[in-house]
Amino acid sequence: MSALPSVEKRQERLKKADLKLQQVISSIARREEKAEKEYFSFFCRKINMFWRGSLLAKSSGKFSCSSSCNSCGLCQKVCPANNIRMMEGKPEWGPNCQECLACLHHCPVNSIEFGSRTVGRERYRHPRITVQELLRQD
Ligand code: SF4
Ligand code: SF4
Repeated sequence: MSALPSVEKRQERLKKADLKLQQVISSIARREEKAEKEYFSFFCRKINMFWRGSLLAKSSGKFSCSSSCNSCGLCQKVCPANNIRMMEGKPEWGPNCQECLACLHHCPVNSIEFGSRTVGRERYRHPRITVQELLRQD
């Protein structure tokens, strides 16, 4: 829903994330107890509660699919919440969306939009995660 950072910035962020992940793994291995700074987690919790309680349920109505959809069904297969059904070759979104936007970012022909803010925006796929790895096994 916002412009993607440059390729260099993305790589920089992925490197930082790797570093952070290593720190977290080490902390867990050493059984350290680390609390996040309370003021930050307090606001995060509040925002998260509001989002879960009021906004998430309205997500499904925001999705649309353009006529470029080729009925491949990939959006349905990558949805971790099993929230998409294919109806007459087109996706339909159910009420259990988690707003991960995997469906939108993996559509091979970019035919999915989420409201108006994704229109014309570049799509993003993590460079080290394949579509095969995302497919639900059910
Ligand atoms: S992934 Fe895209 S092209 Fe494939 S079914 Fe879904 S909306 Fe249509
Ligand atoms: S945003 Fe995520 S959870 Fe929601 S329908 Fe798309 S893939 Fe499923």
